[in-house]
Amino acid sequence: MQGKILIIEDERELADIVFLYLSRDGFEPRIAESAETGLAVAGEWKPELVILDINLPGIDGFEFLQQFRRTSSAPVLIVSARSSDEDQINGLGSGADEYISKPFSPKVLVARVRAVFRRARNYDEKEAANLFRFGPFSLDYDACLLKKGDQRIPLSAKEFGCLAFLTRNPGKPLDVETIYAGVWKNTYGDLTTVAVYVQRLRKKIEDDPVNPTYIETVHSMGYRFNNPEQKKA
Ligand code: CA
Repeated sequence: MQGKILIIEDERELADIVFLYLSRDGFEPRIAESAETGLAVAGEWKPELVILDINLPGIDGFEFLQQFRRTSSAPVLIVSARSSDEDQINGLGSGADEYISKPFSPKVLVARVRAVFRRARNYDEKEAANLFRFGPFSLDYDACLLKKGDQRIPLSAKEFGCLAFLTRNPGKPLDVETIYAGVWKNTYGDLTTVAVYVQRLRKKIEDDPVNPTYIETVHSMGYRFNNPEQKKA
């Protein structure tokens, strides 16, 4: 899992431990030793999650949260030693996403961070309704973007058009004429172009382009897009 995490904590030793655990887990953490520094860092660095201490020199965590919320909706995980803070945190409603009391085990903290990220990402994905997933890939029809995990796979406009056309008709055999008309928007071009594009796409998405899993050849007709997940279901 990846993500930029801002740790706002004035106890340097504790901040360093949290930093270490998060880095080891693949996250990209940064430390701010005061809320003021935290706001400045958040403004230009745009963290995806904030781990926030309440007792801080200068303005406290609650004040930070109020100001931070004016410009960011990133999840905030509050860490506090004052059990009396809990009521106030609960009263904040949507301001904080998680609360963890000190002392805590770094492992538990990392698990909570992961959970918050997962929730936030699931939500983002629901927002992006125009996303098609197959295997490790996600195809964003709006952004014209293909990703394998977090890695972007470059596609030309026509490669994208061809993949979009195939994935919009999963499990259905499509003849070359239909694909050509659908992607190139005319019916009198060179139909072998389709095969050329299918080969290019296979090189980008198939583990073994000669024995494709996703874009299957339908003998003497055309192609069919298979989504292994849908087959299983
Ligand atoms: Ca503190």
